[in-house]
Amino acid sequence: MVGAGQGASAAGSAAPGAATAPVTAGATPVASIAELVGGLRAGYDSGRTRGLEWRRKQLAAGIALVKENEREILEALRVDLGKPALEGVMAEVSYTLGEARFMLKKLAGWLKPRKVSTPMMAQPGKSVLVQEPLGVVCVIAPWNYPFQLAMVPALGALAAGNTVVLKPSEVSAATSNLFARLIPRYFDSSAMRVVEGGVVETSALLEQRFDHIFYTGNGAVGRVVMAAAAKHLTPVTLELGGKSPCYVDPSADLDVAARRIAWGKFYNAGQTCVAPDYILAHASVHDRLLEKLAATVKQFYGADPQRSPDYGRIVNQRHHRRLMKLLGSGDVVVGGTGDEATRYLAPTVLKNVSPDSPVMAEEIFGPILPVLKVSGPEEAISFVNRREKPLALYVFAGDRDVAEQFIARTSSGGVTVNHAWLHLAVPELPFGGVGESGMGAYHGQSTFDTFSHMKPVLKKPFLFDPSILYPPYTEGKQKMIRKLL
Ligand code: NAD
Repeated sequence: MVGAGQGASAAGSAAPGAATAPVTAGATPVASIAELVGGLRAGYDSGRTRGLEWRRKQLAAGIALVKENEREILEALRVDLGKPALEGVMAEVSYTLGEARFMLKKLAGWLKPRKVSTPMMAQPGKSVLVQEPLGVVCVIAPWNYPFQLAMVPALGALAAGNTVVLKPSEVSAATSNLFARLIPRYFDSSAMRVVEGGVVETSALLEQRFDHIFYTGNGAVGRVVMAAAAKHLTPVTLELGGKSPCYVDPSADLDVAARRIAWGKFYNAGQTCVAPDYILAHASVHDRLLEKLAATVKQFYGADPQRSPDYGRIVNQRHHRRLMKLLGSGDVVVGGTGDEATRYLAPTVLKNVSPDSPVMAEEIFGPILPVLKVSGPEEAISFVNRREKPLALYVFAGDRDVAEQFIARTSSGGVTVNHAWLHLAVPELPFGGVGESGMGAYHGQSTFDTFSHMKPVLKKPFLFDPSILYPPYTEGKQKMIRKLL
């Protein structure tokens, strides 16, 4: 086990290691949930959430929360996931700040009615789309990026003029506890509240009527959320996961590909919804890619990744045990060891993996990278298309036609060509799944749009009221209508 004080990364992050003693998330009394949601409903019904200033104030409060508590946030992430400080800064703190600042900058523009053209039939008149909030929004967050996956949708819902109940994951207990402490300090109780807890508390929460539910997590619970939402006809966004494939072509720069794949896979110890789940390597580069992946792991994390300050931990013992069982699905190229007590699992690459093996059955969601051999893009595309639609797809190819083939002939939530999951960082690319990997999207303006109803409004003057619309319907009117429509 690596204790505090061992090693120091170039970024100056603290030593690795998640908490070894269990941390427990709080549990909001079930009996209080209806009243808590009622307070948010009253906050919304007061009408004050609709104004630009109120919305700006919420975003400013979110930004202040992040800036003033960065040290505590990073510490909670270390306790929950052994998250290296740089990964916490990049993917949680700075990412959340970036999204919040972007919304703050654009908000006034987004609130202006969006003009659209008016066809002859509706002339004279003006057509506009008017943004309106939905009401009370429920955000249910997972444990892998427990800060940003809760804060970004919550701030987006507030920016769109809604009130919010935030349910952090009980699995990332230190972050859940931090939310319970910080949210009441920065937000009015009629604007945003936290409900902490597991299945019992979340089930009670889902009995309430919401105007939108934004859920991030696995598909099994996604189905539970959608069924609960159906009772109130509540729209949902489901940000789910899946097995994101990664094809490596002979035309790829293998050194760069190995580095980018290893980074995307072993970041957060593989617990990233868009991590490359498995590699489909062209037979002609398969062996060389394996060598380069093994060398990259060493270069990133040293000879003993357990001592690296730049490598995270598995979130809990249950997931650690689940992952350890998957190691038998192939031959170990690098890694393959683990320590349940400290929740360490080495960055692992597997070869000779059968498509029917356990590691290829479910989303891995951990630092195990199976590499399968394919004869070329055709076989890889048909392999991908025989499976559920993934959240992301990666293709590493210098040959642009190969990348275009994957884009045109496969379906996935999103694609990055020649890198891992950086499409997420582009605010103008909505992020979300398709099919089994989810429904709806957010990031950038699409976060705001997700929590808005863009109300279509046609404004007509009283003057000019041609009789063409009204009975008696004549042959002549019919002819005119055909011309106008
Ligand atoms: P999790 O166990 O924390 O569950 C997510 C949330 O659902 C938690 O708040 C939890 O309390 C709640 N929950 C759990 N069981 C419930 C039940 N029976 N009824 C109601 N609520 C319940 O997280 P997880 O599901 O293990 O997260 C990992 C999954 O999430 C992976 O599949 C991953 O790919 C996916 N994910 C997707 C994204 C994305 O943006 N698309 C991001 C992160 C994770």
